[in-house]
Formats: sequence, C-alpha cells, structure tokens
Amino acid sequence: MIRLRGLRIGRRRDLVCRQVVELVTDYLEGALSPAQQRRFEAHLAGCPHCTEYLAQMRATISLSGMLTPDDLTPQMRAEFIEVYRRWQADDSQRDESD
Ligand SMILES: [Zn+2]
Repeated sequence: MIRLRGLRIGRRRDLVCRQVVELVTDYLEGALSPAQQRRFEAHLAGCPHCTEYLAQMRATISLSGMLTPDDLTPQMRAEFIEVYRRWQADDSQRDESD
C-alpha cells in the first residue's frame, strides 16, 4: 500500500532526511536491519534529495575506495543536514498537492 497523503516529516515510522544521512554508511555497508533498509529505501523512493545524497556518497566512496564512517567527516554531514533544512523549509512553503 502506498501512502502518499499524510506524508510528513517527523513521523515516528518514517525516516527523516537527517536519519537517512546518518544511516547512509550503514546502508552502503549492508549493516541495516531488513526493516531499517526497507524504510531507508522507502524514504529514498520519495525523496530526490536523499537519492542525490546517496549517489554522492557512492561517488565519494568509489573515489576513496574505502567505506568507513571515518571517511564521512562530521562537517560533511552537517553541511548536508543544513541543505536539507533549507529544502524542507522550501517544501513547506510550497504547497505540493500533486
Ligand atoms: Zn530525504
């Protein structure tokens, strides 16, 4: 069942972008539980920003050839989170009733 209406950031069951940012390394390492992975992918399916973030992560990893949490600097995450905040603020101003 696809739940498009009532899709809201902050719901307990749904991952928010910030959580996706935090989980992305675990996801790429295959360290998420099946339930977490499902939620992660469900979020990606509806969130172009996180899809982009994941793509950037993959690119970064393929460049560095490594996949360790140490590769993701806190600053890098903070920057993305900041970008997401702006996106979210932007989204809430626009009434996306598609
Ligand atoms: Zn997202």
